[in-house]
Amino acid sequence: MRIELDRNVCQGHGVCQMTAANLFTLSDDDGLAIQPPNPIAPQFQDEGRLATASCPERALTVIED
Ligand code: SF4
Repeated sequence: MRIELDRNVCQGHGVCQMTAANLFTLSDDDGLAIQPPNPIAPQFQDEGRLATASCPERALTVIED
């Protein structure tokens, strides 16, 4: 499973970081989320899906391999 982040859409709310702290951090430079490394490790996939569903800008996309 992969997660793609569209940084052109991200607004830096940080909901992803709060929901999936193992996958997401916000950049110190621009305040936007940082693309997590793919593929997503099995133990983090559930929180990745939750963060994707929780993103208020729909900046995240789950791609099931
Ligand atoms: S929740 Fe969505 S819009 Fe907010 S920082 Fe994360 S990816 Fe960006």
